[in-house]
Amino acid sequence: MDIEQTKIPQATAKRLPLYYRFLNNLHTQGKLRVSSKELSDAVKVDSATIRRDFSYFGALGKKGYGYNVEYLLSFFRKTLDQDETTRVALIGVGNLGTAFLNYNFTKNNNTKIEIAFDANEERVGSEVGGVGVEHIDDLEEKLGDISVAILTVPSSAAQGIADRLVKAGISGILNFTPARISVPSNVRVHHIDLAIELQALVYFLKHYPLNEEEA
Ligand code: ATP
Repeated sequence: MDIEQTKIPQATAKRLPLYYRFLNNLHTQGKLRVSSKELSDAVKVDSATIRRDFSYFGALGKKGYGYNVEYLLSFFRKTLDQDETTRVALIGVGNLGTAFLNYNFTKNNNTKIEIAFDANEERVGSEVGGVGVEHIDDLEEKLGDISVAILTVPSSAAQGIADRLVKAGISGILNFTPARISVPSNVRVHHIDLAIELQALVYFLKHYPLNEEEA
């Protein structure tokens, strides 16, 4: 991310990949411009928020014209480092880890899982989704300058692995384990607990049903 990025509020920054993905689709379809209403309907962010977000990167939509898709895309590419592929390591080639390796995010953006680690001897040496699986004992040696890791190990192993990743120079961890891991303040952890997300959805459906107009 470039220096300009530091001026963008975190909430806005979090929405950038969402905008990027949609605009990229529009671009592929040959669309030159998009209205904030169209964007809003597609990414489910209200248009006032979209206008405010876009004002941070100097994209001021013109009334009756909307936003220039090409301009926005080139801004997002630069800001999200989409011109450069970010190399990612995955730790824990279980069910979830295997799914990520097979998916490998190639459709939407330039992040690529390049190496995987596991403790299970039977998995070490194999390839999943074209990615080689290394032994977790070789983590420090084989990680190289990779700075982002996805954690799909059992909860009990999460903190230990996180400590080793931090020591090895990782600066971002996407934690899919239910464990809350502690890291130094210069390391960013994003925590995604799929079971809790699903439970929350079910809870909301039950207690806050959407009526037709709001849907
Ligand atoms: P998932 O929870 O991803 O669906 P699973 O149920 O198949 O996976 P888990 O027991 O959660 O299996 O383990 C996930 C993966 O993490 C397994 O492949 C396991 O071998 C690996 N693993 C377990 N402990 C460690 C560790 N300390 N270091 C690296 N990998 C580990």
